[in-house]
Amino acid sequence: MIRFAVLGSGSSGNSYLFSTDRSSVLVDAGFSLKELRRRAALAILDFETVKGLCLTHMHPDHNRGAGVFARKTGMPVHVHGNLVTHSVPEFTALGVPEHLVRTFEPGRPFVAGDFVITAFPTSHDSPHSVGFSLEAEGRCLTVLTDTGTVDDGMRFFIGRSDVLFIEANHDRKMLEEGPYPWMLKRRIAGEKGHLSNADTIGVLNESTLPAEALLYFCHLSRVNNRPEVLARACEQHMTWKGNATICEHGAVYNGCITRGDFVP
Ligand SMILES: [Zn+2]
Ligand SMILES: [Zn+2]
Repeated sequence: MIRFAVLGSGSSGNSYLFSTDRSSVLVDAGFSLKELRRRAALAILDFETVKGLCLTHMHPDHNRGAGVFARKTGMPVHVHGNLVTHSVPEFTALGVPEHLVRTFEPGRPFVAGDFVITAFPTSHDSPHSVGFSLEAEGRCLTVLTDTGTVDDGMRFFIGRSDVLFIEANHDRKMLEEGPYPWMLKRRIAGEKGHLSNADTIGVLNESTLPAEALLYFCHLSRVNNRPEVLARACEQHMTWKGNATICEHGAVYNGCITRGDFVP
């Protein structure tokens, strides 16, 4: 069985934990190590079996705990190779000890604990940003947040997911009419920003996401979205009718999925 948790999502911190009976993998560390541990305990998951951390991109709400995580746990941090070869300052500033840095290339699977992980490029205003597909026990779990557009590569991983964590960042009207400065509104709604509720529902409607998949809407803006606004949009416009959970900003969610027949 694979257990998983959204340890938190939204601009105040993002992190996801995936566990088999023997090992765990963390995707993003937008909280302090202490807070990651506290949230894992809330999700009834064993943080001490974590074998590595995979980072989607270099915004602080996804990586602010990465340096301390590596230094205190001695576990590796997996990042896009270009962040290292191009000495991207946001990555250098994390202070991950060199011997704990592991690099990956999108499309080339790598292993962390019991998981075979494939990164795929996203469209975001952070260099070399990615999403992740994790496979173990014949199951495929995908994390896709922080992207302004969805391309065929992302659609491929959405379509084969047994569990999908996808961003529904903002309601377009709330963003337009909200308090953010004009430049920030344009950035969020842009091609290198975030998916709106309508964007995500459109992507799901056109996807081959299996009806029995588990879907989690994540990274909801506290200012420009609300769970009930997204729920109404889903009722009105979503033709995918599976099991969907709307993750409130900052809250912890857990779940599990049994072994599948799918062989990666
Ligand atoms: Zn983010
Ligand atoms: Zn971001």
